[in-house]
Amino acid sequence: MLPVVVVHGGAGVIPEERREGVRLAARAGYAVLQGGGGSMDAVVEAVTQMEDNPFFNAGRGSVLNVAGDVEMDAIVMDGKTLASGAVSCVRNIANPTRLARLVMEKTSHLCLTAGGASLFARSMRIPEVPQESLITEYARMCWKENLAPGANPVESQLGKFGTVGAVAVDGGGNVACATSTGGILNKMEGRVGDVSCIGSGGYADNAIGAVSPTGHGEAIMKVCLSRLILFHMEQGQSAEAASDLGLAYMASRVAGLGGVVTVDPQGRWAARFNTKHMAWAAAQGGTLHHGLEAGEHFTQRIGDPR
Ligand code: ASP
Repeated sequence: MLPVVVVHGGAGVIPEERREGVRLAARAGYAVLQGGGGSMDAVVEAVTQMEDNPFFNAGRGSVLNVAGDVEMDAIVMDGKTLASGAVSCVRNIANPTRLARLVMEKTSHLCLTAGGASLFARSMRIPEVPQESLITEYARMCWKENLAPGANPVESQLGKFGTVGAVAVDGGGNVACATSTGGILNKMEGRVGDVSCIGSGGYADNAIGAVSPTGHGEAIMKVCLSRLILFHMEQGQSAEAASDLGLAYMASRVAGLGGVVTVDPQGRWAARFNTKHMAWAAAQGGTLHHGLEAGEHFTQRIGDPR
């Protein structure tokens, strides 16, 4: 069994900067495993890196809701115990995934939302950041474009933005997942997407594997995409075949587009999508794998800068 970290930086038509971002994130997560950290530490580290990177739709760089505000969703899940934590519609924090982990570790609940999530963040001494520090020029421009009558924010989203996520297996065979997003462009205030919903925006179970998705949240939720893929793995499918089956079902049943990263407890992994692109990277055994377009699969040594 080879420990692995697999990350995605969103599905759609992806700008080049995100290629680099996912490679950095996979390396960062893998370094945590090499340093003796567990799979939960690794996925949180990888996703936190991408939340801090303004080219991704999570943390800094999040899309704006219809009112022009940032409301973020995040989830983590630990395959050893099925413990999970999530936040939805949270504002004014840099790293929602860290807050989701604290929900898992410090409360008896699975998800805290909006003002309640902010109160909890304060009680955990998570620094509040001004909303402006999370908003990029690009996000504001897309928000303005999508205020126009006849705009199609979901289509525009799949063209431009990248939710982030990671799955990992550590040396003990423990799997974990983390997913984080600003949601869908120009969403209604208070909209909760797939990401904070267990089974949709992520799932991890040491007996089966772990999944982190990206794509149209409403479609992902209708088919409980992450748990659906793990169901197929329980029935004997590989991580890759199960991912394709889940995505194909979402496409045929609810016309949903998206992508996933998936692992099994033996360290076999997949990065699959039915959009034009999905930025992904996987670090395992000294090799960094990465790709963006369908069928693309590059490898390099983890230590090589490019
Ligand atoms: N799944 C995210 C959401 O609907 C968006 C994305 O993956 O880009 O909130």
